[in-house]
Amino acid sequence: MRTFEQISALRTYLRGLRQERKTVGFVPTMGALHAGHLSLVQRAKGDCDVVVVSIFVNPTQFGPQEDYSKYPRDTSRDMQLTSNAGVDALFLPTNEDIYPAGFQTWVDVTDISQPLEGVRRPGHYRGVATIVTKLLNIVQPDIAYFGQKDYQQFLVVERLARDLNMPSTIQMVPTLRETDGLALSSRNAYLSEEERSAATLLSRLLSLAGRRVLEGVSSAQELRRELEALVSEEPLAALEYIELANPDTLQPVENLEEGLTLVVAAIKIGKTRLIDNALIAPEGMASPRPRVSRGV
Ligand code: AMP
Repeated sequence: MRTFEQISALRTYLRGLRQERKTVGFVPTMGALHAGHLSLVQRAKGDCDVVVVSIFVNPTQFGPQEDYSKYPRDTSRDMQLTSNAGVDALFLPTNEDIYPAGFQTWVDVTDISQPLEGVRRPGHYRGVATIVTKLLNIVQPDIAYFGQKDYQQFLVVERLARDLNMPSTIQMVPTLRETDGLALSSRNAYLSEEERSAATLLSRLLSLAGRRVLEGVSSAQELRRELEALVSEEPLAALEYIELANPDTLQPVENLEEGLTLVVAAIKIGKTRLIDNALIAPEGMASPRPRVSRGV
């Protein structure tokens, strides 16, 4: 596996690959890698000749009260994992190279950044959209991979790639879960043993929502109340939100019979904020497939 800190060195390497007509798959991450990240890598390896992974804990997407300084970092372990997974190139840019003195250009994806996480984490998607734009410009991949786990982030990236005429295809990869349903996340490392078992609450409520809609519950309001009641039974959990939303616009839905619905939740387990989501559909409707947005 090749590792690059400098943008110019990575560019030279990528230029060589393009001359050989190799296709490039790209997986941007913030490190503290786990099997969820590696499932994106596996997908990229299946689709593309060469796989590039970036690790950059992006300061501009963390709010002032958030966990930027204590976000888990373990570069040598990440290098081992990516190398074992067959990653061709690891990009480890420095803060100084990504945000040099005088930096003043921001990417703001307006409507789709507003609801859900946008309300609770002001500025978060501006930071995400800016770093993803920069990384896509640096790597210029054929396909870039993003997890369904961060569903709204996927929509933001899909939108910016279209709006800014980026040639890369933006591919969603399904959420990888532990056997008890908990979505893999770097932040799971913060959970105590007791909190770890309470954290299954998120996937339990997504499963309950899926079952209820199959059983014919049509009122989003009624279902939301039932899901909120489940959260209130867990003493270690504090609800931030549960929403039943249109999967394209993220606007709230009222009638669950009308089509596919995104059920999405943010819940604090102890001090750790976890998010998860699922697409749910009424009986008889084809089960959803991960989204892909081709470059333009
Ligand atoms: P992060 O390092 O948290 O920024 O995540 C990097 C990428 O991995 C993002 O596209 C995430 O959506 C994706 N990802 C994180 N956790 C999972 C998971 N459990 N399953 C699939 N993808 C994931």
